[in-house]
Amino acid sequence: MPKRRFGKGAHRCVHCGSYGHVYQQHGLKLCRRCFRELAPKMGFKKYS
Ligand SMILES: [Zn+2]
Repeated sequence: MPKRRFGKGAHRCVHCGSYGHVYQQHGLKLCRRCFRELAPKMGFKKYS
């Protein structure tokens, strides 16, 4: 794999630290996996 880093849109999940499909919701950067796990705990309702 090239050393090329992700572009400006590169985000890192603040929870698990993984890169990928990270969503920025409520000022948090969470991958969809963590978001689904943490959102309910943080009082965030599910998004449709
Ligand atoms: Zn995550």
